[in-house]
Amino acid sequence: VILVLETAPMQVPGRRPTSDEEARHQVSLGCRIIARFGHEDLTLGHVSVRGPDHQTIFIKRKGVALSEVLATDVLGVDVEDPDGLSGDGMHLEAVMHMESYRARADVGAIIHSHSLYAVALGATKNPALQFLSHDALLFREGMGLFDETAHLITTLEQGKAVAEALGQRRVVLLKNHGVLIVGEDIRWAVLAAITLDRAIRLQIAARSIGPVEPLSQRFADEIFEEKYQDHFLDEYWDAWGRQLRGEAE
Ligand SMILES: [Zn+2]
Repeated sequence: VILVLETAPMQVPGRRPTSDEEARHQVSLGCRIIARFGHEDLTLGHVSVRGPDHQTIFIKRKGVALSEVLATDVLGVDVEDPDGLSGDGMHLEAVMHMESYRARADVGAIIHSHSLYAVALGATKNPALQFLSHDALLFREGMGLFDETAHLITTLEQGKAVAEALGQRRVVLLKNHGVLIVGEDIRWAVLAAITLDRAIRLQIAARSIGPVEPLSQRFADEIFEEKYQDHFLDEYWDAWGRQLRGEAE
């Protein structure tokens, strides 16, 4: 018997998973990638992926940091089973994921994190992301804002309210708390997580230099189509995977 200790995540494609195994590896990779881009906070924050049956959600377990998540640290839970969230190892705030998947059939992956810059933006009055570069244009439909409470999101009602505040957007800021980001698949969710952080830092930098000159909504819509083409994301996903493997060697 050869015992192989899993220490590095296995690279898998980032489009909708075709097996449960692939979904678990996508969660592991997604966690490790966003950890490198400012999303790590102790063992908090979580990434999830909708399984190929459309019904099972695969989500990081609690107790491990984003940067160390392996496929074996990923739990499967039925999106229609409210008792599934009381299982061993489940993050308290997993309910946000479940309610957002239930509200949005188009969503294939979700990230909740306490990214420092997103929390900073969510701590301001009337937080808004300005179209200062191509980065912010990924969020051309704006950001949702959940400001009912700054508590942990643990009840069904709170989970539903977060999904409602998200609406049809990619991101909802949780006031004084963190952020929930959704994507068509893990590639889009990870891109949004990384790009959101960059866009906020860019806004801080530009505004500290002087008065800013944002792009118009019309321009934002035009650039979006060119800049955010679905097939580009395969390239990004593969590049992030290579960076992780380089780190593990
Ligand atoms: Zn949280």
